Amino acid sequence: MTKKILILPGDGIGPEIVAQAEKVLTYLINERGLNLDIDHGLLGGCAVDAAGVPLPDETLAKAKESAAVLLGAVGGPKWESIERALRPERGLLAIRSALGLFANLRPAVLFPQLAEASSLKAEYVSNLDIMIVRELTGGIYFGEPRGIRTLDDGQRQGYNTLVYSESEIERIARVAFDVAAKRQGRVCSVDKANVLEATELWREVVSDIARDYPDIELQHMYVDNAAMQLVRTPKQFDVLLTTNLFGDILSDLASMLTGSIGMLPSASLASDGTGMYEPIHGSAPDIAGQDVANPLATILSLSMLLRYSLAEVKLADQIEQAVSQVLSKGLRTKDIYSDGTSCIGTNEMGDAVVSALKVVCVA
Ligand code: NAD
Repeated sequence: MTKKILILPGDGIGPEIVAQAEKVLTYLINERGLNLDIDHGLLGGCAVDAAGVPLPDETLAKAKESAAVLLGAVGGPKWESIERALRPERGLLAIRSALGLFANLRPAVLFPQLAEASSLKAEYVSNLDIMIVRELTGGIYFGEPRGIRTLDDGQRQGYNTLVYSESEIERIARVAFDVAAKRQGRVCSVDKANVLEATELWREVVSDIARDYPDIELQHMYVDNAAMQLVRTPKQFDVLLTTNLFGDILSDLASMLTGSIGMLPSASLASDGTGMYEPIHGSAPDIAGQDVANPLATILSLSMLLRYSLAEVKLADQIEQAVSQVLSKGLRTKDIYSDGTSCIGTNEMGDAVVSALKVVCVA
């Protein structure tokens, strides 16, 4: 039976950037013999508008039938003040949870052509290659109780709960050690064990699991120090293992080392092999509909999809080579533009990657 890929464009720039990745996928299906069916669904604000909920049952059913999901981004000002349970971001958390996508891999890799676009001097980021392994279905984003309540004195109080069980920590730690074994063999586990008991347990469990991986070098680091070190000497890191909240923040930080948040893809994986792939950025409502968003993080997310969910390693490599060639030609979206390069729009960037892919595939 032909495998199916579910595409969820989402909100804001989501449809624009996903359309570019879909051009690449369509080329691979039509011209390169990739045997796949593409289906589409609603998630986020667009789903609230069309179906009244951010994650319609139909979308979840389609996702469960698919070999993998490619997502744009969700959210925007239009839905910021609706009932909390109906907000687009809740749909995203719900689909991650329902599919069991506990392991979020966020590679922060600098394309050498973008050294000028990095927030740091080139010498600090040349050959930068960090893999952030973020726990995705636990921690403070999911812990109960949560909410905003009114206290006896009449003022409101917001509260959330940071919880991690040993099994949740163990399974994400094993992913990080396995990933490190295929890289430089170093894991830095990031926590706030000096203040937060949940991450004190995190540190203990990660240390226990490390005994099963004698060839991997394990280091622990507090999150405040890790943020500082990422800006000071980012190349010291190989694999960064961390919680849901810390990983969310540190990966945005790491994105600027690579030139732009518009460059960083991600893979969210379940233990049964299910995968959802999306750029790490949000729906960027400030630039939506202007044909200026960078689609490369989404196109690189498609590459991760081919690599991790379909074992199409050659095609995944070829997409990365095509992106590299486009950058070598000096083509840039606005976010990665620097003097001496050519600024092009979202659509043109998608077309340029397909053109480069045609050359890469033939070569
Ligand atoms: P954001 O990532 O959408 O944007 C942050 C900044 O980066 C903005 O200036 C934006 O223009 C820029 N940017 C983001 N992606 C870009 C791209 N591909 N090309 C060029 N520039 C890009 O974060 P935000 O502004 O904090 O959030 C906007 C909305 O997105 C909110 O509703 C938020 O909840 C949602 N969000 C969704 C996801 C997701 O769907 N996974 C993740 C983060 C935020």
